[in-house]
Amino acid sequence: MIGSKTREVVIGTVVIGGGHPVQLQSMVATKTVDIVSTVETCQRLTDSGAGIVRVAVDTQHDAEALCEIRKRTTANLSVDLQENYRLAEVVAPYVDKIRYNPGHLHHAEPEISWQKKVERIVEVARRYDCALRIGVNCGSLAPLDGGNKLFSDAVPGDLLANYSNRHANSDSDIGGDIDSESNIDSNVKKALSSALSHANFMESLDFRRFCVSIKSSDPLAVIWANRRFALLRGDIPLHLGLTEAGMPPEGVMKSRVVLETLLSEGIGDTVRVSLTVPNDRKQEEIEVGQLILSHVREGRILTLSDWLPDCFNIISCPSCARVENERFVALAQQVREATRFMRDIPLTVAVMGCRVNGPGETDHADLGLWCGAKSVNLKRGTRLLGTFSYDEIVPRLLRELEQFR
Ligand code: SF4
Repeated sequence: MIGSKTREVVIGTVVIGGGHPVQLQSMVATKTVDIVSTVETCQRLTDSGAGIVRVAVDTQHDAEALCEIRKRTTANLSVDLQENYRLAEVVAPYVDKIRYNPGHLHHAEPEISWQKKVERIVEVARRYDCALRIGVNCGSLAPLDGGNKLFSDAVPGDLLANYSNRHANSDSDIGGDIDSESNIDSNVKKALSSALSHANFMESLDFRRFCVSIKSSDPLAVIWANRRFALLRGDIPLHLGLTEAGMPPEGVMKSRVVLETLLSEGIGDTVRVSLTVPNDRKQEEIEVGQLILSHVREGRILTLSDWLPDCFNIISCPSCARVENERFVALAQQVREATRFMRDIPLTVAVMGCRVNGPGETDHADLGLWCGAKSVNLKRGTRLLGTFSYDEIVPRLLRELEQFR
């Protein structure tokens, strides 16, 4: 079933979609200005089987380093624009793919519409021969008027009618009650709408060299949204991933459930397994991706029924160049060890590596930690409980957890 019927999209030396093999992707976590280490990681990931490697670029120094990294590696490179859509023209000469998050477009120059910003990104991609990824994340959605209108508003009438017919015939085939609309958080529906709106808009600009991703840290949400997107827009390549899957072995298990389920249905053209591992183990993301692809080929897939969501759940980001304190990965491991006694309690604790995504993506967890350079912020839901040193944070977290027992 691997190899979907999507259209082909060229990303450097690889092609996704159109029945081509599923490409694996990973992200470098060294500082981008550390050119030697970044090139070494890019090459190690490529040699392990990564078709695409992402690098973080936040500063002018990062951009200058990217220019040098491009010269020294054969990896197909991708960069994420984060909150700065104007970064596209700075990085485009050196990369093969640019990812933007529709939920971040409103941050810079809010007086300019998201459509104008996407026009600009598309124009840059054309000029520099780059592919694009519309990367929607359920944890960072745009405001309602920023591309996340209700589903029916985001989809042209003929597509919606087509969707309704196919949807009516498909529920029994694609997941029974676990897939039912009533189980799905409204943010996930908004994420789907956002992806559809941006895909439609890009095509209205006569630009088709793009793929779409709809990610969440919730396996059910990722499966639901990608099934729905594939049902509606089976021609657009999908990049699959579960964000903040966490540490092995739990992160591997959650990723397998999501990715094996979707890939076995012919959904997905490129895959990112996100694991919280130190930089010198980053190739494990590729190795797990290869394991997943081989399981799908052999028909030995895990499904949602193999995952137990009603137990203690740690979500943690895979780390990247933006991590401000290298103790982040060790902290995530410490949290897991210290909370083993809670394993039967249905709670979610988020551990995030930096201020870029940490504050927003801990909002939906029962307790959230996000790391700064010298301290760690502790939240309960959206409320900040305080900021603690790296030595204080685990005992403080345990005190907070006692209240849930
Ligand atoms: S939360 Fe920060 S450190 Fe972690 S992957 Fe996202 S951007 Fe990188």
